[in-house]
Amino acid sequence: MSDDTDYADLSSRHHCFLQTFINRKIIEQTTLDKITSAINAYYKSPQQSSNQYINDLNPYLIDFHIQIKTAKSQGKNYWALVNLKADEYSKLATYYQPSDTIFFKAIIEKLVQNGGEISNNECLNLGKAAKAGGSTKVEEILNTFIQDNWLRKSEDKARVTLAERSIIELQPMLVDLPDCYLCSQKVLTEKGVIEYQCSHDDCAIQLHTLCAKQWFSTHTKSNPCPNCKKPFK
Ligand SMILES: [Zn+2]
Ligand SMILES: [Zn+2]
Repeated sequence: MSDDTDYADLSSRHHCFLQTFINRKIIEQTTLDKITSAINAYYKSPQQSSNQYINDLNPYLIDFHIQIKTAKSQGKNYWALVNLKADEYSKLATYYQPSDTIFFKAIIEKLVQNGGEISNNECLNLGKAAKAGGSTKVEEILNTFIQDNWLRKSEDKARVTLAERSIIELQPMLVDLPDCYLCSQKVLTEKGVIEYQCSHDDCAIQLHTLCAKQWFSTHTKSNPCPNCKKPFK
């Protein structure tokens, strides 16, 4: 740490909040809010929201090239601790064998070409092409990527998509994916489509399901597109 005095300025409850991120890496919003309430109760502190803790911590963490960042995935909001300094591939090299990393890169590249989604078979073929091993070994490695929150399988197990950790930590590799008009984060294809896309050709903005539902719950009159203001869909 370059400046211990700054970090020491943070209260015990901020340290506790940060420790939770160090332990869990990725936390879904409702879980995070419960943890925050528990921390507030334990330290008998005023009700401070998760976002306030994050806003307090990020200016300190930036000195260490770390930030708490957010991503939306599968209709939920996630937060993760991200190392801004490490380049994306060297991050992976610290977690996996070289052949696994080649497999992983191949999956990510294919996912980006396909809007964030590929078939499970396609994924396994990439593993074989990367010489990650035989069928069983390739499935094992793929399951590791899923357990580590980089990837997710669809409920029917037929498709593989980017999970929240990739969306947060691998941002520079995902520039070709569309951004949500409302929150500026990546929107992924689900079952071959993006559910909320403006049907007017000159607009065609994309929205997360979560962002769209929030927007349309407060803009009920004629369902206006947040960009072109024409009726959405
Ligand atoms: Zn959004
Ligand atoms: Zn529009």
